[in-house]
Amino acid sequence: MSDTKVVRTRIAPSPTGELHIGTLRTLLYDYALAKKNNGQFIFRLEDTDQKRYVEGSEKRLIETIKDYGLNWDEGPDVGGPYSPYVQTERLDIYQKYIQELIDKGFAYYCFCSQERLDSLRASQKAAGHLPKYDQHCLHLSKEEIQKNLDAKIPYTIRMVIPKNETIIFEDAIRGKIKFNTNDVDDQVLIKSNGIPTYHFAAVVDDHLMKITHVFRGEEWLTSTPKHLLLYRYFNWEPPQFAHLTVLLNPDGKGKMSKRSGSTHARAFLDDGYLPEAMLNFLMLLGWNPGNNQEFFTLDEFVKEFSIEHLHKKSPVFDRKKLDYFNGYYLRQKTDDQLFDLFKKFLPQATDNQIKTLVPVLKDRLVKLSDLQTQTKFLFEDVEYDKDLLLKKGTTPELAKVMLTKTKELLSNFSDIQNRITNLIGENNWNVGEFFMVFRVAICGSAFTPPVVDCLPALGKESTLRKLDIALNKLS
Ligand code: GLU
Repeated sequence: MSDTKVVRTRIAPSPTGELHIGTLRTLLYDYALAKKNNGQFIFRLEDTDQKRYVEGSEKRLIETIKDYGLNWDEGPDVGGPYSPYVQTERLDIYQKYIQELIDKGFAYYCFCSQERLDSLRASQKAAGHLPKYDQHCLHLSKEEIQKNLDAKIPYTIRMVIPKNETIIFEDAIRGKIKFNTNDVDDQVLIKSNGIPTYHFAAVVDDHLMKITHVFRGEEWLTSTPKHLLLYRYFNWEPPQFAHLTVLLNPDGKGKMSKRSGSTHARAFLDDGYLPEAMLNFLMLLGWNPGNNQEFFTLDEFVKEFSIEHLHKKSPVFDRKKLDYFNGYYLRQKTDDQLFDLFKKFLPQATDNQIKTLVPVLKDRLVKLSDLQTQTKFLFEDVEYDKDLLLKKGTTPELAKVMLTKTKELLSNFSDIQNRITNLIGENNWNVGEFFMVFRVAICGSAFTPPVVDCLPALGKESTLRKLDIALNKLS
């Protein structure tokens, strides 16, 4: 690739469901490389696999990326000089280019039936060979091809793969990579429904859209020789490929999967992770700045980003680290900003309740969805067992005295903290013991936010009712 080109990167998701968190990471690197070099970042929708199409997912993909605060310079929604950016709207373009390959002898019609291909595959597998098309249709004569076309026999179009050639390319992350073409299948480029496969459409589009760098998952590495051959057949200059590592499950075992929680970018936002925390976490999941800096705004990341610092080793998706980032970014928020976020995650709370809760909860919050569990007692009388009140070894008699006296005290709902402290002192109660009894009575749980600070959000009436419920349990 010549150095004078404007850097153009793209993210090319398929509308087959929610945006994967790994795709968001790839997108972040695409974005950073383009922006750092004053280039352009492009969104292209790769919707050629109609079997895997999930209704409405293109809209969701776009919304999710925007909710993370990321944008593109060209794409289906904003247009651009290489429109359209949706592959099924570009079918006539692929048609033109496939014809060029057929005419040059680099692609051929394949009339093999699915049954034939299936049995070929089965016999190759049984013999312990890698399943591969046997080029049955490679040498059909012009007449045979025409006869089959006239007879409307369904066909695909495959690419010609040269025999026993070594394809070498320089991956920006992995260095020199070699493939022998004997291991490469005669890839279908156009399916029997006339729609291109990913391989063909992506190469044509990356060329026409002047993409200079392709970041993609390492699962595409073995497809790269096919793509490089296509570039060669067309006499086009290939982009710089960079195959990113896969994300591993938090336990380090295997590719990140649903068993360790959702893998969808949207789910993390729904779970109350802040976009900036997620992005910061993802930045460092496969890249390092070469120093100890941990916190990066998007702009700082763009400034620091370099392909050289992308990792070769697959990173573990460490949720504890993610929680750490989220806590950090939550604590950067002002109370007003937190008010809005709390409101979103606690829609059942009144504005006054939220105003009380923000200062009480903000320092201990890991993710915003935790607010629901932490404040459940404000909105319902949580079921609990009487024994929980006595968790610290308190006798039922003492617990009763504690709660009765506290109830009396709380008939006046002012200066609660000081008056409770005095009450504990006057009665010589053990502080820890008292607060366990009181906490369980109010919240129905032994693990709660600072209970006294939450009382204004609960209100006098509900507080007294909860004390009555606890006293009933003890009687
Ligand atoms: N449509 C492909 C995918 O969703 C894109 C791969 C690529 O970036 O080339 O995995």
